[in-house]
Amino acid sequence: MNQNIRVRFAPSPTGPLHIGGLRTALFNYLIARKNRGVFILRIEDTDQTRYVEGAEDYIMEALDWCGLTPDEGPRQGGGFGPYKQSERKSQYKRYAMQLLESDFAYYAFDTPEELDGMRKSFEARGETFVYDARVRESLKNSLSMQSIEVEEMIASGTPYVIRFRFESNQEIVMQDLVRGEVVVNTSTLDDKILFKSDGMPTYHLANVVDDNLMAISHVIRGEEWLPSLPLHVALYRAFGWEHLMPKFAHLPLILKPTGKGKLSKRDGEKGGFPVFPLEWKDPVSGEISPGYREEGYLPEACINMLALLGWNPGTEQELFSLDELIKEFQLKKVGRSGSRFDPEKILWFNHQHMQLMVDDELIPAFQSVLKANGVNIDDSRLESLVPIIKPRIDFLHEMWEESWFFFQSPDNYDPGVVKKRWKEDTPEKMEQLAEALEHCEPFTTESVEACVKELITSKEWGMGAILNAWRLLLVGAAKGPGLFDLAAFLGRDEVINRMKAGIKEINR
Ligand code: GLU
Repeated sequence: MNQNIRVRFAPSPTGPLHIGGLRTALFNYLIARKNRGVFILRIEDTDQTRYVEGAEDYIMEALDWCGLTPDEGPRQGGGFGPYKQSERKSQYKRYAMQLLESDFAYYAFDTPEELDGMRKSFEARGETFVYDARVRESLKNSLSMQSIEVEEMIASGTPYVIRFRFESNQEIVMQDLVRGEVVVNTSTLDDKILFKSDGMPTYHLANVVDDNLMAISHVIRGEEWLPSLPLHVALYRAFGWEHLMPKFAHLPLILKPTGKGKLSKRDGEKGGFPVFPLEWKDPVSGEISPGYREEGYLPEACINMLALLGWNPGTEQELFSLDELIKEFQLKKVGRSGSRFDPEKILWFNHQHMQLMVDDELIPAFQSVLKANGVNIDDSRLESLVPIIKPRIDFLHEMWEESWFFFQSPDNYDPGVVKKRWKEDTPEKMEQLAEALEHCEPFTTESVEACVKELITSKEWGMGAILNAWRLLLVGAAKGPGLFDLAAFLGRDEVINRMKAGIKEINR
């Protein structure tokens, strides 16, 4: 493996993995595989108030389902572990101290009530309170207080936070692989909290420290993290790690199917489509959110759809396997503008990927659908059936609906079809057709077709009328695949039995 390319997917286990998060994981995975690099899963669980039971397992299961299994992670282990930030807790303080010593950070003792009061008085003047160079000297922190006082407060256990100290009015110039050069003036930034006296780092400190310790080469994440980039770059510089700084790529947002804004869980509820890869049961409310897996989608279809949200291959090609994506994917072909989520498109991808599955792969799935419906049949019998059923389905669970008539005779006849297709002389014609089939040799698709057509031509009957009525007798409705295939599969006796039973039943 190429240890120079090390990428990480770093979700916080605050709930089920949204498909936007899955896309971030996918793009990281593709970059790792393309460069024979390392794909790392790091669980960012420092904010314990937001920890959700089961979310971590859900994330790993979703990655596995999609075939995006990490090379290093909580389950896989690796030389840079542990891969859960809560298990790395003891190391962060030392980095916060380093920043305090080098004056890049300071202690702040302002209570939440005091900060709230400040916010309100600023608002009353029509201004916004920002903890920054303009106000920090007038607040309760180690920049405004005597050091002896600071030491005493810490010694007596007064709660504190450690804040990053941005220089005022400096331009931070950053490079992003998707957005190019990004420039932000520090006067627009606040002195973010890095560490709290409960011993926990915030996301920013833990994230930058771990990316450094895990030798991450590329940070590929959602655009919502772009506002954090100036702080992260400033942290790399403050630690003296600028030469080791990873390359950054911020992926465009996934937008709602219609209207403005980011795709949300509510959009899925409103539009009746999942926004999660797997079904999720909320551990507190018990509420169930649907998942693509449970709705019968193939992981290949999910991956394909997600890849094209933000990445443009630059060709007309839309169908990609994971291997093809690895070959074609390039960060420089990821666009800046948000991509609209189209719930219809995944249905199309699912149908297409279903067709790409080799027939043999479908046999076990078909068998389980049949077993669930009480049908026992040899694999060898199914071989001829799979190519007939496959083009007719978007989902595996549709297999029964599209194939039951191969295994069971109809127990009713669609009245609408009877009315339309069953004429005075139809029973007589069907009797003659049954008679012809009695002598049709051999009973294969081709020869049945020849026998039926010969009869129709010699009698000068209408082809459509006969085939429609025949279908009604064999299937009970105006649906199903090619009749000659169906007849050959059923065999002569079953075909004739169904015809006789149908004629009797419809004429009652
Ligand atoms: N823990 C952050 C998240 O939940 C990670 C952001 C990043 O990749 O830096 O998305």
